[in-house]
Amino acid sequence: MTCICNAVAGARPSLSTENNFMNNHPNPLDHQNISTQEIEKFSQHAHEWWDEQGPLKTLHQINPIRMAWIAKHVVLGNAKTIDIGCGGGILSESLVRAGAIVTGLDMASDSIEIARAHAQAAQLSIDYQAITAEEWAQTHPAEYDVVTCMELLEHVPDPASVVHAAAQLLTPNGTVFFSTINRNPKAWALTIGAAEHLLKWIPKGTHQYDTFIKPSELSAMARQSGLEVFALAGVGYQPWQSKSTPFVVTKDTSVNYMMACRKAKKRC
Ligand code: SAH
Repeated sequence: MTCICNAVAGARPSLSTENNFMNNHPNPLDHQNISTQEIEKFSQHAHEWWDEQGPLKTLHQINPIRMAWIAKHVVLGNAKTIDIGCGGGILSESLVRAGAIVTGLDMASDSIEIARAHAQAAQLSIDYQAITAEEWAQTHPAEYDVVTCMELLEHVPDPASVVHAAAQLLTPNGTVFFSTINRNPKAWALTIGAAEHLLKWIPKGTHQYDTFIKPSELSAMARQSGLEVFALAGVGYQPWQSKSTPFVVTKDTSVNYMMACRKAKKRC
């Protein structure tokens, strides 16, 4: 796979190391990187995580294509995997079904309870924990072959801190997958204007424009944590494709996008 990190808009070639991050973030545990407002928003809908027609419907709809994209880049069989911001376990369960050994973290304890109950009912073994990635990384450094952090970064006060924790959790040859929303007028129009207000797919107030992250900004956060980006893809809406899965992986990263990173090789 070609390294595309320098092709991402605004990205610079990087020699960044962990130290770059630590200069700006003296101790990740000095602050808890949580927005209680955001956690409450998701807690309110905790009982609806598995309602495929409910307020979290779009996560169900994008799940097959993001799973396919992850599986294209890593072997999931027996891969020790951590799903950061797992919610009710939509992605965690798919990862386990694909053969991964999964831990799921989320700070909404109501969602974690729903996730545990759903996995148990489906006879799936998943270790769910109500803890931040930053705190878990303190006791589980370099343990995970695969780290997933999907649709979470736009809900935390300090996304760079989560990116750093993801890098800490990764084994030297591991892969981390992020997904979030780009920041531009089109992304606002589709994810807030259309999805929240016009079509009412997701509850009003789910997203705040200021928290959206450009791919160049996310790749800069990744570089500052010693990661390099090796794949980037957009998630596009094409309702004529399929009613149950109307989303596709595209080259257009202007709205929702996914990024795959691994540890940057040390340069002499
Ligand atoms: N990753 C899941 C859910 C995304 S919704 C998926 O894509 O299907 C965002 C989730 O992040 C919610 O479940 C919310 O409770 C969780 N969350 C928000 N802030 C968090 C934090 N600081 N640490 C862990 N989880 C958090």
